[in-house]
Amino acid sequence: MATAAVPAREAANVMEKIVSLAKRRGFFFQSSEIYGGIQGIWDFGPPGVALRNNIKRAWWRSMVELRDDVVGIDAGIIMNPRVWVASGHVQNFTDPLVECKKCHQRFRADQLSGPRHEADGGELTEARQFNLMFKTFIGPAEDSSTQVYLRPETAQGIFVNFANILNSSHMRPPFGIAQIGKAFRNEITPGNSIFRLREFEQMELEYFVPPADELKWLEYWKEQRLNWYLGLGIKREHLRLRAHDKDELAHYARGAFDVEYEFPFGWSELEGIAARGDYDLAAHQKASGRDLSYFDDIVRERYVPHVVEPSGGVDRAMLTLMLDAYHEEEVRGEQRVVLKFHHSVAPIQVAILPLSRKEPLITTAQKVEHELRPYFRTEYDDTQSIGKRYRRQDEIGTPFAVTIDFETDKDQSATIRSRDAMTQIRIPLAQLRPKLQELFA
Ligand code: ATP
Repeated sequence: MATAAVPAREAANVMEKIVSLAKRRGFFFQSSEIYGGIQGIWDFGPPGVALRNNIKRAWWRSMVELRDDVVGIDAGIIMNPRVWVASGHVQNFTDPLVECKKCHQRFRADQLSGPRHEADGGELTEARQFNLMFKTFIGPAEDSSTQVYLRPETAQGIFVNFANILNSSHMRPPFGIAQIGKAFRNEITPGNSIFRLREFEQMELEYFVPPADELKWLEYWKEQRLNWYLGLGIKREHLRLRAHDKDELAHYARGAFDVEYEFPFGWSELEGIAARGDYDLAAHQKASGRDLSYFDDIVRERYVPHVVEPSGGVDRAMLTLMLDAYHEEEVRGEQRVVLKFHHSVAPIQVAILPLSRKEPLITTAQKVEHELRPYFRTEYDDTQSIGKRYRRQDEIGTPFAVTIDFETDKDQSATIRSRDAMTQIRIPLAQLRPKLQELFA
């Protein structure tokens, strides 16, 4: 477990502030809240879903579209249950579960220090292995022959389609298959808001390589992935790559790194990058009886490709971006809360705000918004006082606001207010688009 970066109370405080901001401004809400919620599942409101889409788009752009060696797929969430037998999940995807005999709370045994649980001194039961896969049934009969699982990772959807992609595309190792999608784990102790969830979203790449090149590609991908997070504007000093110790590695893994972020509760995993050997393809080949090898006709050699897997979470990236962007500042004796998002991920990039709800301000502002809309993520807002609207845009992390005021009609100009510097510059309406593009460049 990671060491605490800040005192516990302060850490809890920052997390509370993020959760409260998330609710106040609509980033995320506890799922089914009007019924008391459901643990480990959250719903995402308008700025939240925009932030997630921006994260996923940035990932897909960098991992698939800007490369010639990676293609994408979108596999089913429910798969043939034999997949999970072959992959080892039915047997091994477990956490040790203990229960306090006094308060009946359940814990992961590997996350507790002593035999007595600290809060009430109650004695704990023996640990038993608890499988984290959610089960359901397919078709109208509910018995063991119709039992299926919700996927606990997107990776297996890639492995079972390996031959399909090889046969239907011109891809040859080294090449990768990427997927973004929901995954489900019945975590014993979900928590830290959206850090550990029971329903979450993964962004995974399986990169297939000749066996001898596996460790070279592990080095390559760990650097790429760290740089991707830096490109989203996350501070270098809050990120690190941590190599897995020998005893942490899965038996088949040749090496693994975590990209870690310094969360208020300590350094924790954002993404794992692992050299998995031929473990997955070999297992599916054996269990399915299908040939999952590749014949390299240049060196005239047949092999089962080895795989390097960068596997990240949309939810952890989202929480990280919000924490890293969170600032509290004193402005003229008042406290200002601002999310200093990089413009590439900001839910809204330009807010267009008429100073008052009078004409011709509203019509002009709406016209400006329509003109800027094709180029930026924009929002028009004429509710509340201008101060409250600036505060809202600061809290959802909008880099610039264009204010249409009483002078605009006369001088055909508007004010651009910067979120970070809080400076205001006056710009002719015709120059707004190029000026904003320059500011974002
Ligand atoms: P942890 O040790 O935190 O349980 P893990 O090592 O089991 O994570 P992986 O199986 O490597 O995680 O999953 C890859 C990525 O998927 C993680 O780095 C994380 O971003 C995301 N992820 C995994 N489990 C969860 C979860 N319960 N909630 C949110 N994201 C998750």
